[in-house]
Amino acid sequence: MIILVINAGSSSVKFTLFDMSDDKKVLATGLIERIGIDGTSMKYSNWKGEKSQGPVAVKNPKEAVQVISERLVDPKYGVIGALSEIKAVGHRIVHGGEKVNKPVRVTEEVKQILKDCFSMSPLHNPHNLAGIEACETVFKGVPNVGVFDTAFHSSMPPRTFLYGIPYELYTQDQIRRYGFHGTSHAYVSRAAARFDGRPIESLKIITAHLGNGASITAVKGGQSYDTSMGLTPLEGVVMGTRSGDLDPAVIFHIMKIKGLSYQDVDNLLNKKSGVLGLAGIGSSDLRDVEEAANKGNAQCAQALDLYAYRVRKYIGAYLAALGGLDILVFTAGAGENSSTLRAAILEGMDGLGFKLDKAKNDVRSSEIRVISAADSPYKIMVVPTNEELAIAEFTGEVLGG
Ligand code: AMP
Repeated sequence: MIILVINAGSSSVKFTLFDMSDDKKVLATGLIERIGIDGTSMKYSNWKGEKSQGPVAVKNPKEAVQVISERLVDPKYGVIGALSEIKAVGHRIVHGGEKVNKPVRVTEEVKQILKDCFSMSPLHNPHNLAGIEACETVFKGVPNVGVFDTAFHSSMPPRTFLYGIPYELYTQDQIRRYGFHGTSHAYVSRAAARFDGRPIESLKIITAHLGNGASITAVKGGQSYDTSMGLTPLEGVVMGTRSGDLDPAVIFHIMKIKGLSYQDVDNLLNKKSGVLGLAGIGSSDLRDVEEAANKGNAQCAQALDLYAYRVRKYIGAYLAALGGLDILVFTAGAGENSSTLRAAILEGMDGLGFKLDKAKNDVRSSEIRVISAADSPYKIMVVPTNEELAIAEFTGEVLGG
C-alpha cells in the first residue's frame, strides 16, 4: 500500500511517500518552503538517491500539493507510474480538541472539528486544513486520514487534564490540558514495548521527547496518563525557545513593568525564552549551547543544568504518578543524540532506579537501543522517533491495511 504523508504548516508543506508493503520503504521525501513569500523553493529526494532543489512557482498549499504530485510521477525524478497508485494520504494535524481520540478518516464532520479548534491552534490547524483540502482536489477520491498531535493524550483523566481554575472555563470554554507530540509519544512507547518483548498493556513508560519543542509523557498500559504540555505547547519543560512552566503572575508582572501587550508576552514566552533566552548566545540549538559551555561559558552551562533539572523533575513526578516504572525512553533531536544531556538529566538518580551504562549511553547510533546498566531497576532506552512513519502506519491502520 502506497501512502503519502503530508505536514502542511504556515509557509511549508513537507511530504513523504511510503511503500508500506515494501518494508515501509521511503520512496520519496521533501518539502516546499517559503510558500506565499519570496524565494519559494522545493527540496526533493527519492529512494534511488536522486535529489533536486530549486525555485517553484507556488503561492498556496493547493499549488504546493499539485507540484508535489507532479514530481512523484515525473519521468526523471518520479517514483510511481501514476497517482492512482497512492491509496491514502495521512495528514499531521495539531489540535483535535476533545472530540478526536484516535487517527480518523477525514470527513466533513472531522473538518468542522478541525475548524472548531482554530482558536486554540491558530498557527497550525488552518494550515493543516488547507493541506487536506488541497489533497482532496489533487488526489480526487483518495481517502485522507487525520493523525492528531492531541489524540494520544485524550485518555488523560480529569485529575491530569483539568487546571485549578473555575470549572465553567472547562465546561463552557474547553480550557484544559490537551498535550501535544502525541504521535511521537505513541510511536516511541509502542516501539519500546515491542523492542523489549513485552505487551504495552502491561507496561509503565515515561517518554521524554526532547527536540526543539519538548514534552514528557507518562504512558500507562499504552495510554497517555499525563503529559507536560497543556492547553498549548508552552507548558512543561524548558524548550528551545519556549519558557515551559512558570508562575502565571510573571506574565501580569512583566506586562505591568515593561508595558507589554499580551501579544508581546506571547511572543516573549514562545519565541524568545527557553534555551535561547537563558543561554544568551543567540541560539536555541542545544548543540551550540553545549559547545559554548564546554568552552567555559558559565551562562550556557547554567542553562543546560536548568534544562536537565526540569526534565528530571518531570521524570520524578511521573514515576510517582505511575506508581512505578518499567521503561524510560529518550527521543527526538536532543534525546536521541546528546549523551551528555541524558547523563545530566539522570544525574543523582541511580538510587531511585535509573542506572545508566556510561559506555552504552555514549554510543552514537540511529538505532533503537538500551542504555541502562544490566542491574538497573528501570530500563532506559533511546528510541528514534519517526513521526512521518507513525502517520503512515496509523493511516494504514485506519483504512484496515
Ligand atoms: P527536533 O525538534 O527533534 O528536530 O530536534 C532538534 C533539536 O535537537 C535541535 O535544535 C537541538 O537543540 C537538538 N539536537 C539535535 N542533535 C543534537 C546533539 N547532538 N546534541 C544536542 N542537541 C541536539
